[in-house]
Parts: sequence; C-alpha cells; structure tokens
Amino acid sequence: MSLLPERSLDLRQFEPKSMLHVPETRVTSACFPVIDVHTHFSWRPSSTAGVPTGEEMEYLATPDELLATMDRKNIRTMVNLTGGTGRGLEETIEKFQSPYPGRFVVFAEPAWERVNESGYDRFQAEEVGRALTAGAAGLKVLKTLGLYLRDNITSGPLIAIDDPRFDPMWEACGGIGMPVAIHVADPEAFFLPIDRFNERFEELSHHPDWSFYGEDFPSFAQLLEACNRVFARHPRTQFIAVHVGNNAENLAYVSECMDRFGNMHVDIAARIGELGRQPRTARRFFEKYQDRILFGTDAVPHGFDMPQQIFGDQLYEIYYRFLETEDEYFDYAPASPPPQGRWQIYGLGLPESVLRKVYFENAARLLGLGSTAGSWNPPAQSS
Ligand SMILES: [Zn+2]
Repeated sequence: MSLLPERSLDLRQFEPKSMLHVPETRVTSACFPVIDVHTHFSWRPSSTAGVPTGEEMEYLATPDELLATMDRKNIRTMVNLTGGTGRGLEETIEKFQSPYPGRFVVFAEPAWERVNESGYDRFQAEEVGRALTAGAAGLKVLKTLGLYLRDNITSGPLIAIDDPRFDPMWEACGGIGMPVAIHVADPEAFFLPIDRFNERFEELSHHPDWSFYGEDFPSFAQLLEACNRVFARHPRTQFIAVHVGNNAENLAYVSECMDRFGNMHVDIAARIGELGRQPRTARRFFEKYQDRILFGTDAVPHGFDMPQQIFGDQLYEIYYRFLETEDEYFDYAPASPPPQGRWQIYGLGLPESVLRKVYFENAARLLGLGSTAGSWNPPAQSS
C-alpha cells in the first residue's frame, strides 16, 4: 500500500461536475402565461447610506428589449417594483406602462427622505393616493425600512418597520386597494458572523455590505416580528411579503404567518435556491397556500453582479424547470460556483391547477389585472 500525499484545494477553485445521470428537461416556455410580480427595470440612482433620495430615475432596459424576452418566455406582464416617487414615478409609468398596457405594471415607493418632516404621516398617505392617480398599481417597501432609514435619515437610531408614522400610509393602501410589496430582513445567514459555519460565506465575501451582523442592526427575528405587527394592525391592506415571506429557509415559520394573517401573500423571487433544496416541504407549502403564492424572480436587466437575477431567457427557464418538472439536482442560477451557496435544487413538479394560479391568476386578482390566463396569447414569434 502506497501512501500518496493528501491534496489540498482552495475552495474558490472547486467546481465539481455532478456525476448523476438523471433526466434534464429544458422548459423553454411556461405552460401558462406568466405575471412576474418582482422585477427591477428602473431605480433611483442617488442614495445616501442606503436611503434612496430624489425623484430622478435610471432605466436598466428599454421596453422593446424586455418585450422580446417576455414574448419568447410567455410572460404577459412584468411588474417593476422600484418605480420611484413623484415625477420619477410618472416618468416610469409614461415610458413603460402607458404605451404597453397590461405588459408593464409599475409600483410606487415612499419618499423616505422626508420622514423627519412634520406632517410626514399625512403627506405619505396622500402621496399613495397621488401615485394611484398617476397609474401605480402598488407600493414597494424596500428593506430601507428597518435596516437603513434612521431618525435623521442617515444618522440616529434606525426607524422601526412598525413605526406609527407609517400607519396612515399602510391604511391608505388598504383603502384604495393598492397592494404593498414589502421586503424586510434578508437571508437569515446575513445576520450571522461571516465565518466557516456561515452557509453563505462565499456570497457574503463577494458582497460584505450585505451583512447585517452586529452594529446596531435589529436581529432577524425582530425585523420579522415588526413586520408581522404591521400585517396585524392593517388587516384591510394586502401585503406581498417578498422572497417567500422574507424567510424562505423556514417554511414552518412562514406557514404560521400565512395562517395568522389572511392579508399576507408571498412571492418566490430570488429564493428558488432555498425552496429547491427542501422540495418536499416546499411542495406541501405550494399546495396549502396555492391561492397566495405569486411568481416573481427579482430580475434585473444586465444585473451581472447577481447571476441568480440577470433578466433573460436562462433565468426564466430555470424557474419554469423548478416549478414544472421533477428534475433532480440542478443549478438554481446560470453561474459556477452557485452564487448564493454551494447546493443544487430539485424540481417541484407542481400540478397544472397550482401552476395556473401561481404563474398568473393570484397576481392578476391582487393587482386588478382582470382577465384569466386563457384569454391572452403571446404574439406569434417570427423565428
Ligand atoms: Zn427585489
């Protein structure tokens, strides 16, 4: 017996190729028309310490560029959550939503930088009404609230998600039928030390600013609890808790919240990497809450920094494969190594009755887009 020296390899160089011989299904188009409720094709370019400021907008793609992919992938509607405020919001609606009704839908955002002005609570509630008049279909609350916005905007104590200043805003949304998409916290691992036990070590190494461990940040649990208090206090308001209720790793917790709050819906954006590594639990979750789960991707055109979110054919094919097939052990993002953590996913193979709701019907109902999936067909493709 010869003793060969043990080899060592830098983890960053390790790109194992799976030796499993299992079916690989390419799902080029969704089996029903799709509403992607979670995308970002515009945003506010100026921000201070994580708080977006001003009304100026930046656009990451043209409508034509997006429509070509949408038609190929059976996407009826893209919802752009970061539509801005005031004049910026109007401009985004003019550029995308008005010329292509039904294809693009724009959400408004609160004017965070005015939060310490007197009368902000009333102003922001009225602002929601003005956004509706301008054509906005909903309100998006980024994790700015809870993790960045402070008493003096960028300094002082962090403002809690359930700060009473926002009560009139949540209430106004309920009154005018405007759903609120709310992002709080981030993956649980982002609130833990970046050490060898952290399952997102590589991701956090690439994006150290995504860590909310230490400093004066609330804990992961505190953020979710504050959000739950908002859901409880405003039962008329419909909330989309993005990224699978902001806790995709813990579907037991999310289920408990869904049971408690009838006004809570979830999207699956940027979390198939989490759902797909617990396929049996995830499938039961989809079956139980099939009327309150929405299809979303968090797609960002040209978002090369985040391979799991780059808008394009590949992204949608992975989502469709995950939802529609029972394929095993495949990549959740078109990148090597996997950008969010070193694991692979398993397809859910959802029945058509559930797919129809998740792809289209639940979002159509919530956003007031009317028409059923069957009444719309994508334009004929030229090639
Ligand atoms: Zn997002």
